Amino acid sequence: MYTEAINKLIEELGRLPGIGPKTAERLAFHILKSDKAEAMRLAQAIADVKNKVGRCGQCFNFAEQQLCGICADARRDKSTVCVVEQPKDVIKLEKTGACRWVYHVLGGHIAPLEGVEPEDLTIQQLVERVRRGGVKEVVMATNPNVAGDGTALYIASLLKPFGVKLTRLARGLATGSTIEYASAKMLTDAVLGRQSLD
Ligand SMILES: [Zn+2]
Repeated sequence: MYTEAINKLIEELGRLPGIGPKTAERLAFHILKSDKAEAMRLAQAIADVKNKVGRCGQCFNFAEQQLCGICADARRDKSTVCVVEQPKDVIKLEKTGACRWVYHVLGGHIAPLEGVEPEDLTIQQLVERVRRGGVKEVVMATNPNVAGDGTALYIASLLKPFGVKLTRLARGLATGSTIEYASAKMLTDAVLGRQSLD
C-alpha cells in the first residue's frame, strides 16, 4: 500500500489498454521520480487532447479547428473523397504521399452483431456531402475484409443515384487484412491502381 495519491495513479494507469498492474506501478514510480515539469507536461498533454481535439465538420477526422488540416488545405482535390473507417487509416494513406484527395471518416464499419448499424457511422453525412455537389469520385478504402467490404457496398448502393464515380482501392491488399497494417508500398499500389466498383 502506497499513499492515496500513488495508489490512485497506479489504478488509473492500470486502466489503459495493455497496461497490467506491474507496468502501472512501474510507470507510476517513473512519474514520481521524474521532475515536476516533465510530469506536468504529460498531465497537460492528456488534458489538451480531451479539451481541444474534436471532429472535423466536413470529414470527421480529428481536428482542433472546425476543419481538419486536410479539408482546410486549398491544394487538395476536393472532388475526390476517400472513405476510410478510422482516423489512423487517413494517416496510413497520407504516409504513402500518393493521395491528393480529401477523406470521409466513417468511425468504423457496419457490424450488426456488434450492435453497429449504419446510423452509428457518418454514412448519412457522406450522402449529404455528395448530395451538396462538387464530388466527382468516391474511393472506398474500407478494410479489405468481410465487414469493410459490406460497408463499402452498402455505401455504394446509397451513392449510386448521384451518378458519382465509385471506386475502391486495388486488391494488392490481402483480403481479410486491414489498412492499418498494410505496408506503404502495398498501399501506394492500391491507391494508384484503384478499381471501379460498378
Ligand atoms: Zn476534414
